[in-house]
Amino acid sequence: MANSSRTNRKFTNRRNRLVENLRTKGIHDEAVLSAINTVPRHVFIDTALEHRAYEDSALPIGKGQTISQPYTVAAQTQLLKVNPGDKILEIGTGSGYQAAILCEMGADVYSVERHEELYLKAREILQSLGYRIRIKWGDGTLGWSAYAPYDGIVVTAGAPVIPQELIRQLNIEGRLVVPVGDNEKQLMTRITRISEDAYEEEHFNHFKFVPLIGEKGWKYEE
Ligand code: SAM
Repeated sequence: MANSSRTNRKFTNRRNRLVENLRTKGIHDEAVLSAINTVPRHVFIDTALEHRAYEDSALPIGKGQTISQPYTVAAQTQLLKVNPGDKILEIGTGSGYQAAILCEMGADVYSVERHEELYLKAREILQSLGYRIRIKWGDGTLGWSAYAPYDGIVVTAGAPVIPQELIRQLNIEGRLVVPVGDNEKQLMTRITRISEDAYEEEHFNHFKFVPLIGEKGWKYEE
């Protein structure tokens, strides 16, 4: 018990420092920072990497994939403009961490992952932490039409082009946040649906993601 409370305190201090670091890097949405201060990132990665959980860096999660850098998660979530009760679709569940952040912010979260092993692991971790998220194994470049439309869609892998199917699954005023580019770097892009057939497109910083692979993404297998 003493040990576990020491461990928790250690992680709490590290999480606080991470949040302060993210503030200095321009994250100002208090709901995003509060979620990052709450979600135990160390639970979403291998115990051998636990000591690095609150560094601002991406870490391997198996199958050649990564849990995104906290700054990237925070920046994408801030751009998504999440309100409590929003229905949000995430493409690329990976470890499940981003889904937990969205859930912590009061969103109704749906998430799709193409690797069965990662999907199963993320589902188990999210359940064990009590996060209620609908999650499926499949090709997220096609969205998840059964539950559309969404108030927000966040793509956590690099797309070669904006997947049109995702735009079609947005509510009016819904936001799609997607990194678009080649294998080297991708431009963070936000599409806001203005009306039935009008959209606004905005561009932000460059990032580097693992590829979005699927019918409307990159075609190759790793
Ligand atoms: N959001 C994740 C997290 O919090 O750990 C980070 C995910 S990682 C950077 C990107 C994920 O997208 C990988 O797990 C990868 O398998 C997944 N992915 C790539 N293409 C996909 C697709 N078409 N549909 C669903 N997931 C996909």
